[in-house]
Amino acid sequence: VSAEAVRAALQASLRACQDHEVELGELDSVAGDGDHGSGMVRGFSAACEAVVSADGTAGAAINSAGAAFADAAGGASGALWGLLLQTVGRDLDGADVTPDQLVAALRHGASELGRIGKAGVGDKTLLDTLIPFVDALDRRLAPGVPLASAWGDALAVARDATEATATMVARRGRAAALGQRGLGTMDPGARSLFIVLEATGDVIADATREIES
Ligand code: ADP
Ligand code: MG
Repeated sequence: VSAEAVRAALQASLRACQDHEVELGELDSVAGDGDHGSGMVRGFSAACEAVVSADGTAGAAINSAGAAFADAAGGASGALWGLLLQTVGRDLDGADVTPDQLVAALRHGASELGRIGKAGVGDKTLLDTLIPFVDALDRRLAPGVPLASAWGDALAVARDATEATATMVARRGRAAALGQRGLGTMDPGARSLFIVLEATGDVIADATREIES
C-alpha cells in the first residue's frame, strides 16, 4: 500500500459519496438534520486535496487526509471520520503495510471511535458497519488469500450489517433524540461507511489486477 494507492482510494470514496450525496442527506433527514451527504462530500474533497502531493508513506497520507476531513466536514461524522483516519494513518506508518497490519489499524480505529463517541454495537452508528466488516475481514484473511478477495467477502457481511441498522433505535448522536422515528431507516453514517468501504475495495481489486497482469 503506497501513498498513491491511498490517493486513489480517497478519490474513489469522494466520487462514491458524490454519487450518493442525496441519498445520504435523505437518510439523515429522517431523524437528523439532513447534512450527512454534504458533510461527507466536503470531508473527502478536503481529504483528496490534502494528499494531492503526498509522497511519504501510506500512513502519513491517511493521517493528513484525516486532519483535513475533520476540519472541512464538521458535525459528528467530521470528528469521527477524522479520528478514524488519523488513528489508522498513525498505525500504518511503515513503508510496507501488510493486510494484518491493516486489520489491526482498522480495529484500533473502531475502538477509538467507540471510546470517543461512547458508542458500541447496536447503537445505530457507523460502528454497526465497521465492526462486523473488520471482524469478517480478519476471519477471511489467511495465507494465500488475496486482500481483494477477503475485502469482497467482508463487504457482503458489511452490506447486511448496514441494512440491519434499519431495525435499530439510535442511542448516540443527533438521531438519538428522535430514536423511534428512525426505525425502518438505515443509519446514514453506517450507510456512508459502507459506500466508502465498497469504493476502497474497487481500488484494491484494480491495484491487485495490475500487479498480477
Ligand atoms: P451530525 O449528527 O453532526 O449532523 P452527520 O449527520 O454528518 O453529523 O453524521 C451522523 C452520523 O454520525 C450518524 O448516522 C452516526 O453514524 C454517526 N454518529 C453520530 N454520533 C455518534 C457517536 N456518538 N458515536 C458514533 N457515531 C456517531
Ligand atoms: Mg447530520
